[in-house]
Amino acid sequence: MMMRTWAEISLRQLRENLQALDRGVIVCPVVKANAYGHGAIPIAKALESAGAKWLAVSCVSEGAALRDSGIGTRILVMGGLLPFERDAAFRYSLTPVVHSLEELSEWDRQPVTVHLKIDTGMSRLGATASPAEVAAALGALKHVRVEGLMSHFASAEDPSTNQSAEQTARFEAVLKALREAGIVIELAHMSSTNGIVYRDARYSLVRPGLGIYGYTSGKPILTWYARLLKVRQIAAGTPVGYMARFHAPRDMRIGTVAAGYADGLPHRLSTRGSLISQGRLLPILGAVSMDLTTIDLTAAPELQTGDAVTVLGPGMDAQQIADIAGEIPYSVLCGIGNRVARVYKED
Ligand SMILES: *Cc1c(COP(=O)(O)O)cnc(C)c1O
Repeated sequence: MMMRTWAEISLRQLRENLQALDRGVIVCPVVKANAYGHGAIPIAKALESAGAKWLAVSCVSEGAALRDSGIGTRILVMGGLLPFERDAAFRYSLTPVVHSLEELSEWDRQPVTVHLKIDTGMSRLGATASPAEVAAALGALKHVRVEGLMSHFASAEDPSTNQSAEQTARFEAVLKALREAGIVIELAHMSSTNGIVYRDARYSLVRPGLGIYGYTSGKPILTWYARLLKVRQIAAGTPVGYMARFHAPRDMRIGTVAAGYADGLPHRLSTRGSLISQGRLLPILGAVSMDLTTIDLTAAPELQTGDAVTVLGPGMDAQQIADIAGEIPYSVLCGIGNRVARVYKED
């Protein structure tokens, strides 16, 4: 493959991860942020052919790009719409999530199907109204159909807090008020990957993102490679990289790799991280540069200029990189840059 740096993405593993998250309710995979760096359109197409009836994005422009590429699933826009984005939501047949009762009444000028988010404890988006107020507002709607009621766990993976139980109680209080008012809501949903995996909270739809890509649930679908641009021997005492943060403690063989922080290799891995070749760690020497990273080739003496090493993959996956860099796997995956070609494999 004639590429300096590329990420191989297994669509077979993607389908397996999707299946592993099937809890007998609707699965709405989250493909926001370029499918967490995996490439929104190819991933959305693969999920649609694998049977997904819903996909979730953050903003209208992400939904519009999916429609333009021919995606026909329902598309939930979770991250809020500003008034100037509403027309496009109609044109592209997107399903907006509405985040306040005021916004709900603004939408009520024409027939439209929306989901309403309830803020149960994130203090981010979502309606903060009481259950009675929500029921009254929904009862007064003329045109809008509220198909779904949703919320979002803040700490689903943390067994030491009762925040998830409190959030569930607030969510269920709204569902109950609606039921008692005779208002039928087809879909209720609270769970992203952690809510599914750690709390088995299902309702009628689940919204896994990270688990689709193989973290927390399933197996990672992406392996990122970069080639060696130069291999050389340096003498003991030789400085390496910006600010000479590494000096060779002995004569050693080093290599310069065609990936840097502009490609998403966190700068915080400087002097701390490692790349991988066939299971062997190749420590990062000195500072990660914008376009280049220098590594110790002592453990892999056979590697030559032009050979590929693994930047992110088995042995040094996004979780392991995140742990070293003080990041989270989400930010590591989302950070993989545009110069990294995405290559999709059926197997
Ligand atoms: C991003 C997001 C998800 C997916 O979260 P994961 O932790 O990646 O599974 C689900 N719901 C909402 C509202 C989100 O913003």
